[in-house]
Amino acid sequence: MERKLVSIQRIDHLEPIPGADNILKARVMGWDVVVKKGEFTAGDPCVFFEIDSVLPEGREWAEFLRPRGFRVKTARLRGVLSQGLALPTSILPGEVPSHGTDVRDALGVVKYEPPLPDGSGVAGPFPGQVPRTDEIRLQSALGVLEEIRGLDFFVTTKLDGTSATFFRPLEGELVACSRNWAVKRGTNPLWAMAERYRLDTVLPPGFAVQGELCGPGIQKNRLGLTQPDLFIFSVHDTRAGRFLGHAEFIAFCAEHGLRTVPVEHVVTGEAARTFDHGLEHYLKLAQGFYTGTKNRKEGIVVRPLVERLSPTLAGSRLSFKVINNDFLLKDED
Ligand code: ATP
Ligand code: MN
Ligand code: MN
Repeated sequence: MERKLVSIQRIDHLEPIPGADNILKARVMGWDVVVKKGEFTAGDPCVFFEIDSVLPEGREWAEFLRPRGFRVKTARLRGVLSQGLALPTSILPGEVPSHGTDVRDALGVVKYEPPLPDGSGVAGPFPGQVPRTDEIRLQSALGVLEEIRGLDFFVTTKLDGTSATFFRPLEGELVACSRNWAVKRGTNPLWAMAERYRLDTVLPPGFAVQGELCGPGIQKNRLGLTQPDLFIFSVHDTRAGRFLGHAEFIAFCAEHGLRTVPVEHVVTGEAARTFDHGLEHYLKLAQGFYTGTKNRKEGIVVRPLVERLSPTLAGSRLSFKVINNDFLLKDED
């Protein structure tokens, strides 16, 4: 599910920040965000901009972000973590829209997109049979915590490379895709993976594998790899229209000689039933380093062992990411 980058939300809570006269710490959904004193009282509606909102130039209310290129980023102010931006609804023309309304377009906000990895030419659209890779941020979808409570689940490391989808149609040739496009066969890292793992013959017809392509020259290569590699996080059976559950996913990758993303925890039975599904606990689990490196990890991805659909996520699969706040503060580009 694409998150609502800018929407009408509520200031759930306000508290003073020791030593700071002009700002307060507010809570909006699962986010802590610093606001100007006097702009809100608890319970007020606000316009909430999630991190990676890029504000429009030439609007008075956006000018204060000019020095930071108009992008809303994670910050620490007077020792308080601030994620997102809450502004009064008076920046909107006309009446205040109802809670949850998406006002991204009305305000001319766009999402920050990292520059594309070079040169891999587009061959066509992303195949319609396969869901695109994406993960919602926990703080924007706290309802998933109730949905996962009591279920057996697993936690994988979120790798900081680039999304790769390989789809073998029932008829016709393998398709290799980046986040949004099928990519031309050629000397690019996607097709290098297709060849190394012989995906055109290894994948059963009708199946797609989705993974993170990591290696030298891709993002910061935080795994410290000496050559590119592919780490699978999803297997989709397009005929059945479903993702494989955890056990099938692991077995599928083993059988076909594919690597998976690192599985950090598999939590089942009594341990799953008594697990602390609080936001704070998840934020702790998201901290740490990529195994064998001194590089902070980007975070974790959490899913039930048995696939299920999520009402909170508008009917897409129950799965969410928790980004490491240390990474956001210190390492994010
Ligand atoms: P946002 O929508 O929060 O702004 P985004 O859409 O740019 O962020 P990411 O933060 O990179 O995307 O998170 C989703 C991506 O994470 C997936 O598309 C996938 O490529 C990647 N990813 C890396 N590791 C994993 C993993 N272990 N499980 C699932 N996805 C993963
Ligand atoms: Mn996304
Ligand atoms: Mn990413």
